[in-house]
Amino acid sequence: MISTQLAVVGGGPGGYAAAFLAADLGLQVVLVDPEVNPGGVCVYRGCIPSKALLHVAKVVSESRHAKAWGVEFGEPTIDLDKLRGFKDGVVGRLTAGTGQLVKHRKVRYLQGRAEILDAHQLQVTLAEGGGERVQFDHAILATGSRPARVESLALENDCVWDSTRALDLPLIPKTLLVVGGGYIGLELGSVYATLGSEVTIVEMTSGLLPGADRDLVNVLARRIGESVKAVLLNTKVVRMTEAPGGIRVALEGPDLAQPEQVFERVLVSIGRRPNSDIPGLDRTAIQLDARGFIVVDEQRRTHEPSIFAIGDVVGEPMLAHKASHEGRIAVEVVVGHNVAFEPRAIPAVVFTDPELAWCGLTEAQAASEHRAVAIARFPWSASGRAISIDRTDGLTKLLLDPDSGRVLGVGLVGAGAGELIAEGVLAVEMGATATDLKLSIHPHPTLTETVMESAEVFFGQATHVYRPRKLKT
Ligand code: FAD
Repeated sequence: MISTQLAVVGGGPGGYAAAFLAADLGLQVVLVDPEVNPGGVCVYRGCIPSKALLHVAKVVSESRHAKAWGVEFGEPTIDLDKLRGFKDGVVGRLTAGTGQLVKHRKVRYLQGRAEILDAHQLQVTLAEGGGERVQFDHAILATGSRPARVESLALENDCVWDSTRALDLPLIPKTLLVVGGGYIGLELGSVYATLGSEVTIVEMTSGLLPGADRDLVNVLARRIGESVKAVLLNTKVVRMTEAPGGIRVALEGPDLAQPEQVFERVLVSIGRRPNSDIPGLDRTAIQLDARGFIVVDEQRRTHEPSIFAIGDVVGEPMLAHKASHEGRIAVEVVVGHNVAFEPRAIPAVVFTDPELAWCGLTEAQAASEHRAVAIARFPWSASGRAISIDRTDGLTKLLLDPDSGRVLGVGLVGAGAGELIAEGVLAVEMGATATDLKLSIHPHPTLTETVMESAEVFFGQATHVYRPRKLKT
């Protein structure tokens, strides 16, 4: 029997951030996860390996594009084993790092799976065999999520991949169908398209990246449209069956030239569902909502007073940085600080080429809430930096309070948008106004200037675009 002040179940970016902060604040901590070292979906089968592959895809695209600048490298050859090795090496390096941090902080790490016995006890089945009883004052559940499945697409066949299988890089299929035009499908579809697959994307709604603002998505969609064979919107996969050479897929949608096609591989990325089926959860007062997320309050407390929950298992947005932030808040609450999870801006980044990012209020959200906003857009075709790197396919926009000029939201699409959005997060969180952004000297020539110049657009005074007209509200 181990007795501890805090038990954390799940070693993803939510769980390990929580465990590490708790140890830093002087608590005894037990962290339970099935992997050898903490990392969770994010490090083992999500954010990190996908970004390693997207980086390689970017290099390949740029090397092809360099022809237009007078530099020719020739068509790249892909050594799949080496590429896989690079990606696995990235994951290995990071997880070795989290393993070291566990030791430095003297967190008791149990490699295994936890079952809840009651509001103060866990039973851990250890990976090495045997078990361990853990008695805790408080626990944080951070069990994450897994790929969603629907019945019509649940074909048990090696040719049907989920994101985890796609990240394993088993082969570069000649044809790949990506089911779902969300960020995971677009990121992985882009990787395979660049590596040589003929990619088709099917999305059942009327646009890619449902939820993101259309003016940003349109810029990305144009470029994606050039790199894949087809993007089929308003289209559904109704049936998948085994066929020689892959999977026969029946599609339903408008203007389909071929309602049935065979693809060598099908990647199903239709969202993720919470891992809230934790054994023994029913022995507590913890409640789930209609979608299966654990219900928590703003301090991340469940209905069981000694147990908190954070990360993907408590709801959208299912993002690593949101999980980590929640984890740190929950720990602060455990040690008695008067804090709550109430961010004004949780950034979302789609790491395609170009990248797409937003934070705070979106235009779609403002419209649905009938909220008056001023929108100031700066096209990257007017940015010296964007022109000099030959990447004018970008847009920066600010959503502002029309009276005070306060920054309510920021949207970006373009090369490196994922890095640029951090300034937007700071602006929204700090309650900055368009005047603050306009008066902050941004380095030249950089893409960050597009944020400053968007603020200038709000006043009809942008140096590099002529926009004297009144802004749309
Ligand atoms: P997870 O990372 O899911 O970790 C939960 C852990 O708990 C897992 O290790 C699981 O095995 C363990 N566990 C479950 N049940 C038990 C149990 N009973 N006992 C012990 N352990 C248990 N997010 C971003 O922010 N940026 C990105 O670029 C990004 N890219 C992604 C790309 C892909 C392909 C995917 C799939 C996801 C991506 N995400 C990204 C999402 C991100 O991975 C998740 O939001 C994040 O990992 C959630 O963290 P978490 O701590 O809630 O849970």
